[in-house]
Amino acid sequence: MNRIYTRPAAISVIAIVVSALILLCALPGCTTTSSKPTGKLKVTTTFLVMYIFTKNVAGDAADVTNLVPPGVGVHEYQFKPSDVKKISDADVVVKSGLGAEMWLDNLLNNAANQDVTIIDTSKGIHALKTSGTVDVHIWLDPVRAEKQVENIRDGLIKKDPKNKDAYKRNAAAYIKRIKALDAEIEHTVSGFSRKDFVSFHSAFIYLSDRYGLDQIAVIEPSPGKEPNPRSLAEISNIIKEKKIKAIFREPQFSSKVVDSLARDLGIKVLVLDPIETGELKEDYWEKTMRKNLGHLKEALE
Ligand SMILES: [Zn+2]
Repeated sequence: MNRIYTRPAAISVIAIVVSALILLCALPGCTTTSSKPTGKLKVTTTFLVMYIFTKNVAGDAADVTNLVPPGVGVHEYQFKPSDVKKISDADVVVKSGLGAEMWLDNLLNNAANQDVTIIDTSKGIHALKTSGTVDVHIWLDPVRAEKQVENIRDGLIKKDPKNKDAYKRNAAAYIKRIKALDAEIEHTVSGFSRKDFVSFHSAFIYLSDRYGLDQIAVIEPSPGKEPNPRSLAEISNIIKEKKIKAIFREPQFSSKVVDSLARDLGIKVLVLDPIETGELKEDYWEKTMRKNLGHLKEALE
């Protein structure tokens, strides 16, 4: 008689254990080998700064992956088959917008993911033009960057409302740091004796717009594209005329043109980083903005 009753009991125990495991695996942090292991929102960002902003907002509440490898610039990127897979798997794609990711529409067409939500972080941001075209480098102005972070926060909340509190809390903490950076730049720039500078490629008009600086000339028409002799002569004249004492290069490009120009004119070369390449670390944008500020100070104080 006993055996008849113990069997269903054993089955019930197994059923309870299995149910408990299923329940546990619905919680964040459970790791299995299935394609959606954590049940977390899958967010794919386009390039370095979008990854950094998004990671700061998402924290542990969402899985964030990035497309453009950290050593490759966003302007010259050509997407790979593995990127199509990443977009196919994504719930959300975060882009800077304004055409910074020229390759993205084609990539989205290839991935044909009907359910993916695109967060355009440039939404509501006042864009500026350089040489008649909209300039894309909004992430180099902390106040516009703050708006980008807010757009990421709102987009994530809309898609994943159950983590609303986490996204709000994380974004608030990050925005506090961005505001501190903004105040620091404003204070430092107010001590500069001059405001005009020559950059490597046209990346700093938003920074200039915010703090009253003046990007009077750029050396390369687009990054990696060397200037022709005529425009080089023009730049050289501007530098002499305005008595510019330092010009800027970017870490990821050859500095040959800049170096020889600086040698000819007897001026210094410093780094001004548009943060299009670098380390996928949460504080990397802030650290590099501060480094840039230090170099601007050296050239302009
Ligand atoms: Zn750029």
